[in-house]
Amino acid sequence: MTTEKGIPSNSRVLMLFGQLEKLNRESMLVDPEIARQITAKVLHLIQTQEKTRKEIMSKGSSGMEVILATLEHLSSKYGGCVTRPVLYSLVQSCERNTQDLQTILNILYILNELLTVGGGRRIGVFVSKGGTGILLQLVIRASKESPPSEEFMLQLHSVLAKVGPKDRKFGVKARLNGALNVTVNLLKQNLQNHKLLLPCLLVLQVYSSNTVNAVSLGKNGVVELMFKIIGPYSKKNTSLLKVSLDTLGALLKSKTNAQRAVVHVPVLLYIYQDWHRNDTRHRHILIRKGILGCLKNITNIKLGRKAFIDADGMRILYNTSNECLPVRTLDPLINTSSLIMRKCFPKNRLPLSTIKSVFHHQLLCVPAGGPVAQLYNQPLGVDDVVDESDNYEDAEAENDTENEMEEKDRHAGNDDVETDINKLRPKETHSRPFEELKIYERFFMELSEDFQVFNFDNPKRGVTATPAAPKSHRPIIVPTTQALPPKNPTAAPLQGECPHPAPVPALDLDTINITKDQDGCGDHTHSRSHPGAGLEQELVQGLERVALDGAGPQAGGGGVNKHNRQPPILAGGVAARLGGEGEEMSAEDWAEEEESGEGAVLHVPDTALLLPLHDPDLYVEMVKSTRSVPQFSEVAYPDYLGHVAPTSREHILERVYGVQSPLPPFRTKIFQDIERLIHPNDILDKVVYDLDIQSCTVVDGGGSLKFNSQFESGNLRKAVQVRKFEYDLVLNSDINSNHYHQWFYFEVSGMRVGSPYRFNIINCEKSNSQFNYGMQVLMYSVQEAISGRPRWVRTGTDICYYKNHFSRSSIAAGGQKGKSYYTMTFSMTFNHKDDVCYFAYHYPYTYTTLKMHLQKLEALRTPQTYLRKDVLCETLGGNSCPLLTITAMPESTSNDQICQFRNRPLVFLSSRVHPGETNASWVMKGTLEFLMGSSPLAHSLREAYIFKIVPMLNPDGVVNGNHRCSLSGEDLNRQWQNPSPELHPTIYHTKSLLQYLAAIQRAPLVFCDYHGHSRKKNVFMYGCSLKETVWETNISATSCELHEDLGYRTLPKILSQMAPAFSMASCSFVVERSKEATARVVVWREIGVKRSYTMESTLCGCDQGKYKQPEYVLVGG
Ligand SMILES: [Zn+2]
Repeated sequence: MTTEKGIPSNSRVLMLFGQLEKLNRESMLVDPEIARQITAKVLHLIQTQEKTRKEIMSKGSSGMEVILATLEHLSSKYGGCVTRPVLYSLVQSCERNTQDLQTILNILYILNELLTVGGGRRIGVFVSKGGTGILLQLVIRASKESPPSEEFMLQLHSVLAKVGPKDRKFGVKARLNGALNVTVNLLKQNLQNHKLLLPCLLVLQVYSSNTVNAVSLGKNGVVELMFKIIGPYSKKNTSLLKVSLDTLGALLKSKTNAQRAVVHVPVLLYIYQDWHRNDTRHRHILIRKGILGCLKNITNIKLGRKAFIDADGMRILYNTSNECLPVRTLDPLINTSSLIMRKCFPKNRLPLSTIKSVFHHQLLCVPAGGPVAQLYNQPLGVDDVVDESDNYEDAEAENDTENEMEEKDRHAGNDDVETDINKLRPKETHSRPFEELKIYERFFMELSEDFQVFNFDNPKRGVTATPAAPKSHRPIIVPTTQALPPKNPTAAPLQGECPHPAPVPALDLDTINITKDQDGCGDHTHSRSHPGAGLEQELVQGLERVALDGAGPQAGGGGVNKHNRQPPILAGGVAARLGGEGEEMSAEDWAEEEESGEGAVLHVPDTALLLPLHDPDLYVEMVKSTRSVPQFSEVAYPDYLGHVAPTSREHILERVYGVQSPLPPFRTKIFQDIERLIHPNDILDKVVYDLDIQSCTVVDGGGSLKFNSQFESGNLRKAVQVRKFEYDLVLNSDINSNHYHQWFYFEVSGMRVGSPYRFNIINCEKSNSQFNYGMQVLMYSVQEAISGRPRWVRTGTDICYYKNHFSRSSIAAGGQKGKSYYTMTFSMTFNHKDDVCYFAYHYPYTYTTLKMHLQKLEALRTPQTYLRKDVLCETLGGNSCPLLTITAMPESTSNDQICQFRNRPLVFLSSRVHPGETNASWVMKGTLEFLMGSSPLAHSLREAYIFKIVPMLNPDGVVNGNHRCSLSGEDLNRQWQNPSPELHPTIYHTKSLLQYLAAIQRAPLVFCDYHGHSRKKNVFMYGCSLKETVWETNISATSCELHEDLGYRTLPKILSQMAPAFSMASCSFVVERSKEATARVVVWREIGVKRSYTMESTLCGCDQGKYKQPEYVLVGG
């Protein structure tokens, strides 16, 4: 006993508990009247002595603990149980005394008092000692009395309502026990008895949270019962209404219950409006939210959504939400309303006749069962956009969060791990005879080179492109950086100062027209005309377009400067204006130009100085041999002028984590979308750009933006003006496919300065995007470029990415999970009049850029550098796939030196198999420049290794603006197991190179394929390890020998120590089933390269090291 000290007021309670305990021990022998008296006294004490109650129940007080301990001690003698607590004893005593109603009631009162205060701890003790079960048994026993005592049931349910939410198994216990129906019957019989109703409803609410209970209660008519209780605005019984709504909401999570409630949708909407109108002081937000909660759950089913639309739910929730907007505390109502409206927004097809790619490339062989055959053999009449059966499929889970996605990823990863040990062992059989591989010998001249005819004084003559190079690789004489006078591109010339001549023959604010070699590539079944002369004329007043014919650029260099003019001087900007070759400006032109103000004056930046490895003239020359399916005849300005890496790190927009949540910008966008349905007459719906129409010339109806993407890597298919300053944009599918849209690159002009435009790319496919986490779009302004800032900049505001109401049929989705599309929306206010702006998903890097870059790279060659450019093969689209060899020249022709030269280990690098991952090309660009550079490290690397590099595995995809595939409509990085020379030539021949090397025992030391990752941050590698895969799968370790060289970890480890952007934690060396046909896995398994990697670079920034957010880093740029 430790109770004597300090709590005299409790002694009486203790005494009473002691007596009660004694009674328990003596069982039925005692007169129930004594028990009643004792409990009544306890109750009286608790109820009357405020001080006592406070002492017993206040949190942190030792009073209650002392009592409990004391009574615990007393109860230890009872039934041999040492730790039986007092509450249990109380219940037990009441259980044994059901005949004495007053005793039980007294104890229930006591429990109600005790459990009301003190929080979950006391209830937890109660639950853990089996209190719930005893109470539920009491319910059953009491129900057998007829009629059950109302007061008894009231008190019993009050206790249950307190205990239930803290007992995870409460619902199951109640169902098994039969208490569920007792409560329901009690409700049915006492609908007017509000006093009894409340505790019963509270208990019912707890029951309903269990899904099995919810179904069972629904069958028992509880859904209808709830609709009898809830009603229009009234100040009475609001707590009853609140509980009924919450109970109903819980019940409606079951689909069968939701079906029962469909007929009540108009009622719910009516009640909601009634509360909205009358609850002017917003005292009953929870009731209003409860009504919305019910609607939210009913509209999870197709019939519910239909009922909601039929009952004019969209307009009702839209209007009420708008009225709620000014009051911040009503945000939860707006959010739930917006969620319901989004869900119920009728699914619609994209504004296209078919989602098949607008361009078709006729393949020489179309394998039956392949994706292309499947795509084009769909039966006539199959509407690939959307069909009725899909129209109202049950709503998918909303609000995917990044966490959930990563969770899914990880989960999928685990399921995906290769468990077939035979597929993890090296594939021994070399399926191809050496004779067949021997033709690849010519790509490895360095392995047999003896340099006997090599001129060491003039090495460039000795090593050049191999004879395999096509015409397009003929040397082009271009002005080099050194040949031009130095200029300061950022400083505009002063008044009267003669500007320096610029290396470009002409510049026009739209695009540069190039007369292409028309060699009749028969494969092109589509050709598209330029958006039209009207568009061009509109662009920049007073600036004539200068078409570049084939001779133009070559005549460049010094010659082009002859026609330079004195620049006109205008207020607000001083710049040089260049006439094109042979183009003289008329007086009218000048006059017009002066009128048109700031935008009309151009100063061509000397990009050669800013970008030593960029050359606009060379670009134009190179583009002539680039073959595109749409037969692009234009060059986009950013590709022509080049991109200077940002001088400062990019900023990431600050966004709250987990954005599909209703942040104000997102909400505004959603409401604007819903308005389309509410006020259809306000929608312009004017097509301003459409590749599906032969001549996509658009009559300018005044003030519409002009769009274009008919240039390399461009992929805008359609633009629809929906409001004065809002446009829906549809991206083209990858050629010969009907999906894979995420990458975008297009041009906008004709903008009004200072007006915020909203752009919606409405057919994105991924379920979430870094655009929800602060990533911005990239924009390139030609006005900025010609003012000396030729660069892509992160821009755009109110950027959101969310599931929209556009959908495709399951047939069209081709087994793809998601049928819904996503909108990527951003707002943009333009700064310059008469500007031409480009928008892109990520820094564009075209195939022509690569060709130009490779050409410029040769300038970096020193006599000590060995650089060879070969053409590995031609692509399906008629582009050549370059192969580079970089190493150091031998120091002499001595035997030793030649021997060392030939025996250097090989490092094999490749990149850009996925066209949308442009950052892979930028990383490759950095790699090449480093390897060709003069640093001591580059020197020693060249002296130690032979680098074989395929810098662009998918030129056709890049050229045609694809996101993922090649012209065969397939992901080339899933073709490495059995590449077809006809369908996947670049993969087939790259693999052959590796097979050749394996056959001559010269398999590379390292293989690495560069990729870009759209969701993960930083740079990291995927490698292959038998051991780590086996560990992941729990295959018995004894089932295979686990001798594995840990060498595969060395390179990533070194990178993580050296490179701040590299994350070892993100690396994985597990072989997944879904990746078995990728370069990394096939090169590891079939070629036997232990260090075979995929290197992923983030598209969206780093979260570690010195590049940590909130800033981005352009990797390799
Ligand atoms: Zn990739």
